[in-house]
Amino acid sequence: STSPASGEAHFVIGGSGFLGSRIALALRQRGEKHVAVFDLHAARQPIEKVDYYTGDITSESSLRQALIQLRDKAGIEAGAKRGIVIYHTASPVAGLGPEIYHKVNVVGTQTVIAVAQKSELAVTKLVFTSSAGVVYDGRSLVNVDERLAYPKKPLDAYNDTKAKAEALVLQANSNEPGKLKTVALRPAGIFGIGDRQALPGFFNVLRTGKTKFQIGDNENLFDWTYVDNVVHAHLLAADKLEGAGYPAHKLGDIMISTRVVA
Ligand code: NAD
Repeated sequence: STSPASGEAHFVIGGSGFLGSRIALALRQRGEKHVAVFDLHAARQPIEKVDYYTGDITSESSLRQALIQLRDKAGIEAGAKRGIVIYHTASPVAGLGPEIYHKVNVVGTQTVIAVAQKSELAVTKLVFTSSAGVVYDGRSLVNVDERLAYPKKPLDAYNDTKAKAEALVLQANSNEPGKLKTVALRPAGIFGIGDRQALPGFFNVLRTGKTKFQIGDNENLFDWTYVDNVVHAHLLAADKLEGAGYPAHKLGDIMISTRVVA
């Protein structure tokens, strides 16, 4: 199921994290020559032949500098058909205050979009990692799809700011040839190699003997997707974001996983 190298340059924001590091690895494994990671933190296990840039997405100048280096190293010129693809997977971890979610998810994503729209940087595509939580307000969602509107009362600041970021990314899509194309993906729970939240959380419950509590009637369901399947969806979304044959408005709404029953 691996697609061939696209020959573009790839810029993985949040690429030191769980999902982003697997995206960078998958791109290298399919033979991409120009893969760069941009993250607040250094990678725990750097991937061979991937360039790492440390920076914050709320800083336009740090993003710019890293993109210029990737562009020049890959020999891409402004207006090139095979430009830079940005995968924006960065987001703060769960359980923080509303200010940090607003700053990174909304202001940071706005900054990423503004930089991606600068024609001299030759960014052609922006793939945004959203979340199934953007349409969840605490009530069961069964067999819904991307036509479902954002809830009037968001679940919390994290999901509210992810929804705002997603809307900004989709609005930034242009149908004009040579202009930025965007897509958002909405995974639900992600598990697999490098997961620091889901399974470690379950193991902690076991270790601390807190298994006697039950939330709900034991019929709760939640969607889980294996990390490399989410990675695959990101690569496919980027590859198909070419314009020809794929109306952008359709691509602007891809949703991988929608069934959230609580
Ligand atoms: P993660 O915390 O492992 O990775 C996120 C990375 O983003 C980290 O390396 C972090 O340093 C970086 N980052 C955070 N703020 C930044 C900033 N201001 N500038 C630059 N880099 C910054 O998280 P993850 O589980 O890999 O999640 C990746 C994406 O997937 C997120 O957007 C998240 O909302 C989304 N998502 C995750 C899950 C899940 O179950 N893990 C489910 C749905 C959606």
